[in-house]
Parts: sequence; structure tokens; C-alpha cells
Amino acid sequence: MKTENYEYYKQKCLEELFELQDQFNTNYNLDYYSNWYYDHATGLFTFSKDDEEINFTYTLVSTYSRKDNTLQWGWAKHNLPSKVKHGLEELRQFGIDNNIEELNTALISTNEENAWALTAMAAKFSKGIMGYRPVSDHLLLFVVLNEYIEPDKVKRIKEKYIKCNEHKSARVAFVCQHLSKTEKTGFEEAFETWPDMELDEDDDLEAWCSECEEIRLKDGGWNDENMKYSNIKLVCEKCHFEMKDNNLEKG
Ligand SMILES: [Zn+2]
Ligand SMILES: [Zn+2]
Repeated sequence: MKTENYEYYKQKCLEELFELQDQFNTNYNLDYYSNWYYDHATGLFTFSKDDEEINFTYTLVSTYSRKDNTLQWGWAKHNLPSKVKHGLEELRQFGIDNNIEELNTALISTNEENAWALTAMAAKFSKGIMGYRPVSDHLLLFVVLNEYIEPDKVKRIKEKYIKCNEHKSARVAFVCQHLSKTEKTGFEEAFETWPDMELDEDDDLEAWCSECEEIRLKDGGWNDENMKYSNIKLVCEKCHFEMKDNNLEKG
């Protein structure tokens, strides 16, 4: 793609984003809400006022440092879960295919105006409905909101997460009372699991120790009594995998 064609395309995306923002403000009246927060674990961006809130899925397009005028792409942030990177990989690929350096370089020197234009392109690639730029820890975050999520669904998503003292927000896991991060008790689970795996809405991470497994097999499944012995508790996904690592480690 020729430079002037690219600049034209980028400008078009920016104009489209302005239209989307107007539409968005008409639909959701963001000024009404006094707080915002996001949670990379649930993938929800929330605007709230007192008890009222509205939620959206989102994409963290980039972070921008005003100190040194650099932008880091969201796709280059490896700790960021894929659920907040909608369309970013496609945009990067578009950059590679068309030899556009700023789209496929993890960290670029640029200005805020261009950061908005890049956000507009990300909005196009992720079918975004709004561009948003909150400030966090001296960094500007360039965010695209992707989809409005109904309150019922928000509730169902949030129920699957737990605030852990050690790990902040993470998916909930169910483990028997005997599993620990220090002692070896064996580790049994309903199905093979790995960190950040996709789970169907009906599936949960569940694990129990060898002793619970022995009793469960003898009883031909879970019942009230052996469940009482297991005394399942809720932990976060990261704690679950720390327990798994501890128990399956050799030696
Ligand atoms: Zn147990
Ligand atoms: Zn935890």
C-alpha cells in the first residue's frame, strides 16, 4: 500500500470513529456515569454511578507514555489475555502484508493524535463501537469498546470470577479442602486443564486429592457424604494451577 493511500485510509477510519462516538454517546450517555474500571480477567469495561452500571467487552489497543511519546501496542503485551485484544492480531498482520511499520512494531515513537488514528483503525478491525482513552498510572490507555453486554450476562460472567488476595481477579476454581500449594496430596480433576484455557459456560475448573478420588471411586461417584469430606472450597484459577504444579512436580 502506498503511503498516501495508507494515510487516506487511516483518516477515513478516524472519521468513522468520530461518527461511532456520537452514536455511542446518544445510545449510552457516558457523561452520566462517574466511575469507570476494567478487568482484564473478565474482559469487561464498566461505567458506573452508585448502583447503576453498564458493561462492554473491550480491546486494549495500546498504552501511550506522555513522558517519552512512545506507544506500545496491546498485541505486544504478553500478559494481556486474548479476550481484550480483539482484532489486534489482524491489524498487525495488515501492517505486515502492506509493509506499514507502525502497525507491526511493538513500540513506536509517535504523538497522541496518531495514537487516536491507530485506535480508530483498531476499532475498524475489531468492529468497535467506541474509542475511549482513560488515564492510568501516568499512561494513557487507548481502548476500543466492542460490544454492550446485557446485565444478565454480566452477572453470569462475574460469577465465574473471584477476587483473590494474592492474584486479584481471576477465574474461580473448585478444589477439595486437602489440596495445598506446599503438601503433596495428589491432584485429580474432572478434565485435563491448563492455564488460560477456554472453558465452556457449563464447565468449571475442579480438582481434588488422591484420597478424595479413592473414596469417590469406591462410592461410585460424588454423594452428600464424600462431598462433605472433600469440603470443596473456592480458589482462584492461579491458586488452582499452583496447587496442580506443586502436586504434579516430580521429586
Ligand atoms: Zn481431598
Ligand atoms: Zn489466587
